[in-house]
Amino acid sequence: IEQTFSIVKPDAVGKNVIGEIYSRFEKAGLKIVAAKMVHLSADKAGEFYAEHRERPFFNDLVGFMTSGPIMVQVLEGENAVALNRDLMGATNPKEAAAGTIRADFAEEVSANAVHGSDSPESARREIGIFFSADEIF
Ligand code: ATP
Ligand code: MG
Repeated sequence: IEQTFSIVKPDAVGKNVIGEIYSRFEKAGLKIVAAKMVHLSADKAGEFYAEHRERPFFNDLVGFMTSGPIMVQVLEGENAVALNRDLMGATNPKEAAAGTIRADFAEEVSANAVHGSDSPESARREIGIFFSADEIF
């Protein structure tokens, strides 16, 4: 069984669709085994997105991710990493397949509703940034 790390980003929290997004996870068979609401600091957002530090959109990304509260969660299930990426859809909501979270709840690549780990290795790193072992069930 696999775990992945997921974020409901500030735009989706602001749109009041946390429950609708959690429902997508549950209907797909992903179990929420840890969850909390947090408001990121710029330092923590920068650590989380360290791989993008040299990208032109890095400062905007950190600004967006610190603009309001987010939900962070660990999802567990068979092929959880890939399954969650399928549920999310393409990074750019304009290119996301119909019925995906980003197609249904986001408009812009810079505010695209959700994050999901891109590999099991990334998942382990990202889970460790937000959760201790005793917070995961
Ligand atoms: P995430 O890591 O958030 O799950 P992703 O893996 O689909 O998204 P990445 O390439 O890791 O996409 O980019 C991280 C985030 O940076 C994207 O979710 C998006 O919000 C932002 N981003 C990516 N490309 C651009 C861009 N060209 N302009 C603005 N923001 C971007
Ligand atoms: Mg990514």
